[in-house]
Amino acid sequence: MCQDCDYHKILTAAGLETTRNRLRVLEVIGDRGVPLSAGDIHATVGRHRPINRVTVYRILDLLAEKNIIERLSSFKRGSYYGLAPNENHAPHPHFYCTSCGRMDCLSPESLAVNSEHLRNTFPGEIERVEVRVEGLCKNCLKQKSRS
Ligand SMILES: [Zn+2]
Ligand SMILES: [Zn+2]
Ligand SMILES: [Zn+2]
Repeated sequence: MCQDCDYHKILTAAGLETTRNRLRVLEVIGDRGVPLSAGDIHATVGRHRPINRVTVYRILDLLAEKNIIERLSSFKRGSYYGLAPNENHAPHPHFYCTSCGRMDCLSPESLAVNSEHLRNTFPGEIERVEVRVEGLCKNCLKQKSRS
């Protein structure tokens, strides 16, 4: 699990009660370290104890709404979910493999996005900035060069 994030504290800080299901969903997302699709999250959470798909989706909506997790759009496989930036995790771009659908977190320094200027000059309010880089992951690239 992530050494730095206390999921119970994160839920409490957002004004949410720590229910067992919320905690399980948050743990799966936080501990994996890469964004997961809703289906993956449901499958992983349900590995230990069966859980209703709708329950998981509702929790994902709630956690995203409270900015605990962030919803990342993929090219064609629906939303992926990762921990939202918090005091332990700086905002960072994501890499999405258009062949296998894997999403990875890139380091914050890998592609610096400075939205400060935009935030200061944009006439509305910017809630979040999502940066997604698309291409082939190294496994897919290897397979491609073999065939
Ligand atoms: Zn963490
Ligand atoms: Zn791939
Ligand atoms: Zn990430």
